[in-house]
Amino acid sequence: MQYISTRGDPTPRSFSEILLEGLAPDGGLYMPDRYPQVDDGILTSWRGLSYAELAYEILSLYIDDIPAADLRALAEKTYTADVFGTDAIVPLKPLEPGVQLEALSNGPTLAFKDMAMQLLGNLFEYELARRGETLNILGATSGDTGSAAEHAMRGKQGVSVFMLSPYGRMSPFQQAQMFSLQDENIHNLSVEGVFDDCQDIVKAVSNDLAFKRKWRIGTVNSINWARLLAQVVYYFAGYFQATKTNDQKVSFAVPSGNFGNVCAGHVARMMGLPIARLVVATNENDVLDEFFRTGTYRVRGAAETFETSSPSMDISKASNFERFVFDLVSRDGALTRELFNGALQRDGAFTLLHDQKARIAGFGFVSGRSTHADRLATIRDTDARFGVVIDTHTADGLKVAREHVTAGETMIVLETALPIKFADTIQEALGRRPETPPALADLESRPKRFTVVKADVGVVKAFIEAHAPAE
Ligand SMILES: *Cc1c(COP(=O)(O)O)cnc(C)c1O
Repeated sequence: MQYISTRGDPTPRSFSEILLEGLAPDGGLYMPDRYPQVDDGILTSWRGLSYAELAYEILSLYIDDIPAADLRALAEKTYTADVFGTDAIVPLKPLEPGVQLEALSNGPTLAFKDMAMQLLGNLFEYELARRGETLNILGATSGDTGSAAEHAMRGKQGVSVFMLSPYGRMSPFQQAQMFSLQDENIHNLSVEGVFDDCQDIVKAVSNDLAFKRKWRIGTVNSINWARLLAQVVYYFAGYFQATKTNDQKVSFAVPSGNFGNVCAGHVARMMGLPIARLVVATNENDVLDEFFRTGTYRVRGAAETFETSSPSMDISKASNFERFVFDLVSRDGALTRELFNGALQRDGAFTLLHDQKARIAGFGFVSGRSTHADRLATIRDTDARFGVVIDTHTADGLKVAREHVTAGETMIVLETALPIKFADTIQEALGRRPETPPALADLESRPKRFTVVKADVGVVKAFIEAHAPAE
């Protein structure tokens, strides 16, 4: 399997070449040069596999430069009941007839990002050891991604993490998830500024190519292909739990921000998994809903990006979206480049031509949006009818799923976080706090390890120079 760029760079690359990379050199995103196909026989042989075995089978279709035994061992080490709470790893929870939740948030940081990040931690450690190299991961976070990355990389050989977060602006629970880590290779930099300041510093450091090379700076952001690939597995796992035979179809509703999660569903569907529809759910930041309804993709500025009670979906520009558009335009790299590097840079928007727009339905996509009032109503209703407390992001997904589901359809809503992460909104909806998992009861009172720094590129670089391990 070779990987190509969405913007037409003709140089193919192998999986281990792109594993530690961000964007392709031409600014595009990496994609597999084809989607391996699963037929009825393969689907049947995968039913009944454990999650780790299933993960191995799917990963091995896309990764041919890691020996099979090693890849299998990496999958077995990642997807354990110990780390993810149950043998099923992603159990389904039935709600009303036709609708069920798929629990993706029982990993160490209680959000679905653990599903991919835990594998990435093990893949990075493996690949760096194989090359005899080290890597310093630099990132900015306002919550879920940073803590998932830190919990995945903690204690890993060859990897250090430098994570910037805005001082005093995360919830106490989110802050404690990161700052309570005592591992030597995890560095929390609490920046006197807002999230955008943190992100600007990361960009400035990454743009200093000499510094980047000398200090072996890398990232773990959502455009990483390995993260997306790891997410493909739970679409198969959800499908096998919800069906008895391969002639049944299911639909998935996905709370979406950067389009990483639902793009993995698109990949699963392209491989031949019998998915009827992919329901993209957004919050008030409805860039994606607008696109799927109108065919116009219009990125938003800071003034038009709202802070909502489902904050991990507060995006103005969906970083993985280019992958789907690449497929939509029949993998025309020059056209994808014109849309994302031309029209989007020039006009802040592009609109599909009529025949391009007509193709969206053929990929199974539909969409909808949800507001704060919808979240509260959905959380209340789901608690009252089923005794199930859901988080705010999952509520967005469920609200939109209910608008779309038709008689006879099986709709799986991806549960992307546990309610305790967004306790204030649950309190507002239900008048009580959500349950804290027993293992985390004392989280907020644990000793914290972090350094407060000025919002200054020089200060952050100096910190990395002082704390990065010697090569
Ligand atoms: C990251 C995140 C999302 C959005 O996922 P994308 O892959 O960015 O679309 C939704 N819900 C939660 C809880 C998240 O952490």
